[in-house]
Amino acid sequence: MESLEKLIQDLTQEAAQIQIQGRSLRPDEMARLQAIHQALPHLRQAADILRIEVVTSLITYKIVSDVGGRLKQAGRTACNFWNRFIAPASSIVIRLGVFTANNNTIARAYKPYTRTGVIYGVVEFNTSYLSSFSGNEIAGTIIHEIGHTLGFGWEQWQELFDPASGRFTTAAIDRLPALETMRVETDHGPGTRFSHWDEQSHDRELMTGFKDHSEHVLPITISVMELLGHQVMEELPRETDLNTLMESLALVIFSRQGEAKTLDRDHFQATDLWENIPHDRPLPKKRSS
Ligand SMILES: [Zn+2]
Repeated sequence: MESLEKLIQDLTQEAAQIQIQGRSLRPDEMARLQAIHQALPHLRQAADILRIEVVTSLITYKIVSDVGGRLKQAGRTACNFWNRFIAPASSIVIRLGVFTANNNTIARAYKPYTRTGVIYGVVEFNTSYLSSFSGNEIAGTIIHEIGHTLGFGWEQWQELFDPASGRFTTAAIDRLPALETMRVETDHGPGTRFSHWDEQSHDRELMTGFKDHSEHVLPITISVMELLGHQVMEELPRETDLNTLMESLALVIFSRQGEAKTLDRDHFQATDLWENIPHDRPLPKKRSS
């Protein structure tokens, strides 16, 4: 991209120099000038196309508080996950921090808020789990939360299914046939109900309401993002173990720091609590010995 800009600049300069000779041009100079004038519009068009591709939206994170850098590492893996599969309709900043409570809440997420075209999602992690969870378990939880920020549970999602049965509408299935076999969670409290795949039908899938020890991702979890207004960059070909996916992503070097830096990651607004992520089992009681 930079070399293309440089080429356009060099050719523009060369053409200008040929023209300011102060004498009539030689045939070779005339030919060169003509060639440059023919090439420049195409080069400029190519540069415009490349510029559009470079300036796309992305998902990034901001660490508000952490324990031993664990959220930072997990946040990076989680953003790599979604950035690999989708280009969101608008950029997303996940603000990650910690809280401490001795209960089975692994993490809690707050209602996303928007400012100047950026969506912010706040996720706080329970330090009781942060120390005992593996890096992948933390990253998996953040991936799940970003799934909500991307629309699992919000307006566009709610229009896709019948809340009484948890089945997707004919219109939704027409757009995405794989929705035929999917069911939406209709049980449990607000925050779980209507904003996940059904626990009973899809048990260990990433976007069910309960965190399991070993989870997988169904291709539909990626492809449904198209119906939530995002662009799917890469489809997931088959049901894939979440740990396997994350291991390949932990090594990916984030190449879009420049773009991430242009986003205001510090903007904060207090919003309502949206979801508590419960563990499938409560924390073991501390023994007093
Ligand atoms: Zn959830």
